[in-house]
Amino acid sequence: SELKEAICTNLIQPHFQPQVSITDRTTIAVEALARWYSPDKQQMPPPAVFIPFAEQNGLIDLLTEKIYIQAVQQVAIWRRSGLDLKVAINLSMDNLHDLSLPDRLNAIATEEDVPVDRIILEITESRLATDHSAALEILTRLRLMGFSLSIDDFGTGYSSMELLHNIPFTELKLDRQFVHGAHSNKSSRAILESSISLAQNLSMDVVAEGVEDQQDWDLMANLGCNLIQGYFIAKPQPADALYPWLCRQLKP
Ligand code: C2E
Ligand code: MG
Ligand code: MG
Repeated sequence: SELKEAICTNLIQPHFQPQVSITDRTTIAVEALARWYSPDKQQMPPPAVFIPFAEQNGLIDLLTEKIYIQAVQQVAIWRRSGLDLKVAINLSMDNLHDLSLPDRLNAIATEEDVPVDRIILEITESRLATDHSAALEILTRLRLMGFSLSIDDFGTGYSSMELLHNIPFTELKLDRQFVHGAHSNKSSRAILESSISLAQNLSMDVVAEGVEDQQDWDLMANLGCNLIQGYFIAKPQPADALYPWLCRQLKP
């Protein structure tokens, strides 16, 4: 009930973390990452705790919708101030049961005047799903509407290959456990190389998550990644705190 109350009163809010182009470091997108605040503005448990809790307690649809609305509204504000950014929003596999979801997400984007080709939906599969058919249909409809689809934490979940085979993903996100420190880890490097070549063969963008230092950056550049996300660039921050950073970064 505490989490439900927080969701309903907008105490679950998105922070935003930049994704920059490897070629010129311009910000192409921001990922919306949910944060839980108490009414007196203290940080509550992290998403690794409250997202699975929301999934297990029937709150994930409400949470996703609230984060989606806030993230799209923020992108609309940035657009009006001249910043044309894409936004990546996380969807749980548990959100993909209701065939009306694509229309609802589309309607919110239209209402906020954000073209759906500016919205990337990130999907992670953290546990074995019993029935993929609804998820498959929903993701296919979203793609046909023009949303981008990203497969998050690639290589860590269940049936990544099967998802990749069945769903028209546009982007592959390398999980940070393979990214950070890969320059000194032969097996991480092998996993990265084959994941990137798979993505390239499927004409997908590749995002490296968890880039924490120059060595990580250099390796991702050499391996042919398009986009970089990680503490080396910027941590997830509230929109107001990120705005000056985004503006500074646009200056030559
Ligand atoms: P994710 O979608 O894979 O998000 C990336 C996570 O990596 C974020 O953790 C981010 O803060 C962290 N990260 C980014 N760069 C670095 C880095 O350089 N080093 C390290 N150590 N970490 C980095 P966060 O915000 O704690 O979120 C954890 C997970 O919770 C997310 O993983 C996502 O699966 C889930 N999550 C967060 N917000 C939402 C949401 O609104 N909806 C759903 N369904 N899941 C969400
Ligand atoms: Mg994500
Ligand atoms: Mg991830």
